[in-house]
Parts: sequence; C-alpha cells; structure tokens
Amino acid sequence: MTDLAPEPAATYVQVALNLPLRREFTYVLPNGVAARPGNRVRVNFHGRGLGGVVTAVSASTDLPPAKVKPIEAVLDADLLLPPSLLELARRMAATYGCSLGEALDATLPAVAKRRGQRRIPHLEVKAPHDLAMQAVLELEEKHQAQSRVLRTVLEFGGPMPVLDVRRRTATSDSPWQTLVKHGLLKRVMIAEELEELVPAIEEAAVRHELNEHQRAAVAKVDESVAAGAHRTFLLHGVTGSGKTEVYLRILEEVRKRNRSAIVLVPEISLTPQTVGRFASRFPDVAVLHSGLTDAERGRQWQRLLQGRSKVVVGARSALFAPVQDLGLIVVDEEHETSFKQDSTPRYHAREMAIVRGEIEKAVVVLGSATPTLESIGKARRGVYELLTLPQRAGAGRLPKILVQDLRGEPKEVRRAGVVLSRTLLVLMEERLKARDQVLLFLNRRGYSPVLLCPGCGEAVKCESCSVSMTWHVRRGRLVCHWCCREKRRPEICPSCQQPGMHELGVGTERLEQAVKDRFPEAIVARMDADTMAERGAHERVLSAFRKKHIDVLIGTQMIAKGLDFPDVTLVGVVSADTGLFVPDYRAAERTFQLLHQVAGRAGRGEKAGTVVIQTFCPDNYAVEAAAKNDYDSFVQQELVFRKLTGYPPFSRLLRVLAEARAESEAQKLLQEAVVPLRGMADVEVLGPAPAVIAKVKDHWRWHMLVKCFQPASFQRAMAAIGTVEDLGTRTCRVTLDVDPSSLM
Ligand code: ADP
Ligand code: ZN
Repeated sequence: MTDLAPEPAATYVQVALNLPLRREFTYVLPNGVAARPGNRVRVNFHGRGLGGVVTAVSASTDLPPAKVKPIEAVLDADLLLPPSLLELARRMAATYGCSLGEALDATLPAVAKRRGQRRIPHLEVKAPHDLAMQAVLELEEKHQAQSRVLRTVLEFGGPMPVLDVRRRTATSDSPWQTLVKHGLLKRVMIAEELEELVPAIEEAAVRHELNEHQRAAVAKVDESVAAGAHRTFLLHGVTGSGKTEVYLRILEEVRKRNRSAIVLVPEISLTPQTVGRFASRFPDVAVLHSGLTDAERGRQWQRLLQGRSKVVVGARSALFAPVQDLGLIVVDEEHETSFKQDSTPRYHAREMAIVRGEIEKAVVVLGSATPTLESIGKARRGVYELLTLPQRAGAGRLPKILVQDLRGEPKEVRRAGVVLSRTLLVLMEERLKARDQVLLFLNRRGYSPVLLCPGCGEAVKCESCSVSMTWHVRRGRLVCHWCCREKRRPEICPSCQQPGMHELGVGTERLEQAVKDRFPEAIVARMDADTMAERGAHERVLSAFRKKHIDVLIGTQMIAKGLDFPDVTLVGVVSADTGLFVPDYRAAERTFQLLHQVAGRAGRGEKAGTVVIQTFCPDNYAVEAAAKNDYDSFVQQELVFRKLTGYPPFSRLLRVLAEARAESEAQKLLQEAVVPLRGMADVEVLGPAPAVIAKVKDHWRWHMLVKCFQPASFQRAMAAIGTVEDLGTRTCRVTLDVDPSSLM
C-alpha cells in the first residue's frame, strides 16, 4: 500500500563550517526540526562531527536530494546569532580573506552556549616539590617539552587548566600525558573557577564637572546618538585629558535612550581600575576578557542576549557581544596593536567596530592620545569627525620631560651593562626620599637578550628558530622568545669552545637587579610576562603599588598604559631605542606612541611629574616629538616618510607568509603566487623574500608584502592572490594577513 499523504516538503539549510574552505555546505533538516539563519547546528562532515552556523534556509536544492545529509542537531535553539552579527561576519570574511565559518567562529565566543558550570581538566603537581624540581632538571636534556610543562605547573602554584599549560609552553598533549604516566603530574577535573565578575571597586568614580573641551566632545557625539545614525568620531586627547570621563557621559546618554553600548579596551588595561570606573557608574556592566572561564563567558553572553546587561566592557572579542539595539561602540586606545587578532581570522577590532556601527546604525568613538596615522589621516580627510582634548583634566599637569643623551655618559655609569644616567639616579634618590613612587620602563624581558662569545662573536641561537636566546637569571635558563624552547647556559662557547660567555644587552631582570643594588632600601617589583606567570599576580602587584607597598615598579609595556597612580612623580624610560631599529615601517610611530604613553603615567595627581627618556638617538624625530609632547609635528614628519615609501595611510597592506620545512618550497610557492600580481595597476609588491625571522620552529619563512594604493586595487589583489586553501599545500602553510601588525 502506498501512503497517499504528500511528503512533507524538505527544508534545506546552508551551513558555514569553521574550516578554511570558502564555501557553505548544504544539509537537510530532519522532519520536525526547525532552524533559522543564525542557529548553531552540528553536522557530519566527512565522518567528523562539526559545529556550524546556519546562514540560509530554502525549500529546494540543486543537489541530488539523496546526497544531502541531514543535520545532526540544532544546538541551543534559543541562542540565535542576530542577523547583524551574521552580516558582520560576512564583511569580515570578505575583508580578511577567511571563510565565513572562520569569521563566525570568532563572533561566537568559544562557548556562547555551554550552560552552567563545566568541569574542565587541570594539572597539578603530584610528586613532592623538591622531587618535582629535580625532575625538571633531569628531563631538561632529553625531554625539553616535559621539563617545561612541569616547571610551568610548579610555578603556577595550583591546579592549572590543561589548555593554559599547553598555551604557555607551546606543547601538545603528549608531554603532560607522559608526566601523568610517570606520577609527576596529576590530572584533575575541577569546576571552572567562578571569579568575581566585576572586580571590587576600590574607589567610586567621581562624577566631575566637565571642562569646556569635554563638554564640546560629549555634545557632538550625543547629537549623533540622538539622530540614530552611524558616524565615527576620533577623540584625540592627551593622556589624562579625561577621555574616559567623556566615554562615561556619552554612555549615560545612550543608556537614557535605553540603547546598548560596547566599550573595547586593550587587554592590558582591563585592570580592576578601568573596569571599576565603568562598573561604579553602570551597575549593569558585563565584563568580557580573555581571562574569563568558558562558563563565565557563557553567563555574560546570556545576560546580554536577554538584555539584562546593556553595557559591555571588554577586549577585542567583546566587539561581537550580542547586545540588542546597539547605540555606541567605544574603542579606547585605538592605536593599540592588541586590537588586531594574530590568528585566523586576522581581523582588526577597530575596523570591524566601524563596520558593525554601519550595520547597526551606531555611533563609533575611537579614542587615543596618539592616534594611528591611519585614523588621524581619515579624520583629516573628513571620513571621521575629529574631537580634541588638548589639556589634562583636573589637577594633573603634563609632566616635564628630560631627554638624556646617553652618548655623553661616562663608561662607569654603564658598568654591568645597565645604563642608568646620573640624571635618572639623582632624581630617583630624591623622589624615593620624598616617599614618592617611581616607574622604570624597559620593553625587553629577561636578563640579557644575547649571550655572546667574546672570542668568536657567536651568540647562542635557538636550534629551531633563527633568533638568539634570551638569558633568564632567575630561571637559570636561556629561553627562545619565539618557540619557548629552553636550554642550559653553556659554560664554553658552543662554536669555538672558549670559556666565558658574555651577557649582552639589558632586560627587565637585569635592570631590577641593578636598581636593587643601587637602592637597597627601596622596595622594587617587576612586572613583565615572566613575573606575571603566577595566577593573580597582576592584580596583586598593582594593588600593592596602589597601597604604596612598592617604591619602584619596573616593567615592560605592561606598565606603559592605563595605570593612574597619583604618587608616581618620576618615570624613567631606560632605553627609548629598543624599538627604533626594528625593520618595520611603524618603528617610529610605535616608539612615539610608547614614549608618550609611558610619559603619561607621571604627574597624574596633584604632584608634578618628571620623565627621563634615556636614548642614544636624541635627534630622532620620534624621540624629539615625544619629548615635546608634540603629536602634530610627529605626524607631519611621519606622513612625509610614509608618502615617500608608499606605506599606510597611503596604501593598504597585504602580507603573504609561507612556512615550510624545506626553504625552497616556501620560496617557490610565493614565486608562483606573485605572478598574477606583477604589473597590476596601483599595486606594488615587495618580495618574495626571506622573512626577517627566517626560521621559527624548524620552519623556514618567506613572505611578500603587497601595497595596494586604491580600495579597488586591494579588492583585485585579494582576488588574484586566491585563498589560503588554493595556495597552501600539505607541507607548506600559507598565511594571508590584511593590515598586518607584524612584519617579522
Ligand atoms: P584619560 O582617559 O584621557 O587618560 P581620565 O578620564 O582617566 O583621562 O582622566 C584623568 C583624571 O582626571 C582622572 O583622575 C579623572 O577622574 C580626572 N578628570 C577627568 N575629567 C575631569 C574634570 N572635568 N574635572 C576634574 N577632573 C577630571
Ligand atoms: Zn625557538
């Protein structure tokens, strides 16, 4: 007997999968299952279960229906990705040359969806401490990775999530598994830590009477918010000019209209201090940062979707917060490189914030004391509206800046490799006597960046990467900052067997030692990636500094921004030159930004501040302009250089990187990839050539840089280059990087 009832019409869905394949895949919905664009689904893809996002629904398909597989499940039917975020992901994929699935994966924070508390694997040290320490040393020779893993867990001082261990040590699962097998580590399932979501507010933010510049800026932005139209503003305000206060006022306006706002800050400034300022004014703040556990992130996501939180403060990925009725996006410190993601999709949160603003008719405010050449260029061409805060707000005044020419310093000052000029030493002594606080900035961690043989001049290099290894005293190891490999310090030169290796150059660790030797009474602390490896270390040090339990804080760029401590009256830049000679067209810009930001930490309270910038290049225009607090003159000179060389803002860059174990393979791949670009109008190609760091993790690296002088030529170049899937091979990895933040 045949069934006379008509077949229910099949419904097909297009699914974007998180794979580097720039197409979507067709599946059919099983009877009785509904799905809409934006639903997350699980499908079978060549025998693998994969998560994906539905991008379209249709009643028919061009494929033979028998070949179309059903989806396996709709995940969290009520957690629909809003259409605006789907559109944002499309724009992201088109701009950065990734697949839609990869772009969508970035918009869905790892776990939007896992509910409740999960138990995740952690590692803890099982063996007694001294036994474990001994094992670290024994394993070092033959089992590098295991040694590193064990040491990392030991140093963390408690159960550490497996994922974090892998990330920090750049290892796979097998080293920790072996350590577990040998009884040195123990794998434990622990519920994800539920930290306080909003950090304790140490001081309620005062609501200041705005000064006239702040008032003008707020009024301008409010006007656009009221009009409900998209517009981008660039708020250029010197450090301490009250930019944050301006954001807070605009936020009040946005909240009055019952609309939502996203505030993006660099990860590094997501300190309790910053967050506290927002939280004390807006009790419905949701905080998103990379330190959140999956469960916390999931909870925040829920609150946002349900409209219980309407103000989001977070790092890069908070841009994708699923808020309803978005009225405002703030990108604070828009010049920060941490807004660019350095893995696929390699998007820039500032650029995507503007795109989201366009899509959702929201106002975007980019703020900085040192706007990028790209942003100031657009503001001057009228693409963005420029708002300026020329003075420090409130009590603080801009600090006095002294440039210390190190070329004239006598040799004995440079003893032990650490250069602390007499000027800096005298000022330190004076400020420490007055019980003020001092910040010393040096953008290089470790003890010395190079261990050199004075006989033959060879430096100790990493075996897997073409870089010299950094000597770390406390760790007692040479460390490769590119692949995390470590090794023992050789007693004799590995090349010529001569004894007496020499430490060349200064890192924060060496600086700390020199300062402790020189000022034995002072309490000195160091803040860099090494000392911050322990959990909670960041908050601990900052809180101790605030309570004045620390006199001198030494640090890398971690201390360059965001810190606002009224008793810091002296800031020393130990070397302004560390970034000046890196082979990157932004070397001068980055130096200027960093110097300006560091200097901005001084004199933020009632007391006047002094900054000492030590340099061997006092005539360099970036150093000179920073010393005079003269952003405009820096921009003027830098634009001349950029125009001459055709770098941004006069072009848009696309970097193509090829990495393979055989150098010839990487080279050949790019030599073929470059062919369609040759002779293209408004396009210039540099390379292909070996990358600055020619080898990383035993892979040789070649790259080329494509300058596109017109938006249309950028589109053409992107199309001509093709996709990563076309270009790459099983043995050669290809990376496309639009607006690359690193050229190394
Ligand atoms: P920025 O974000 O530009 O670095 P902040 O918003 O942090 O500046 O302000 C710097 C300091 O000045 C803060 O301590 C802040 O409380 C204070 N401040 C801001 N606006 C005013 C104002 N209008 N009057 C007095 N003090 C202010
Ligand atoms: Zn290495």
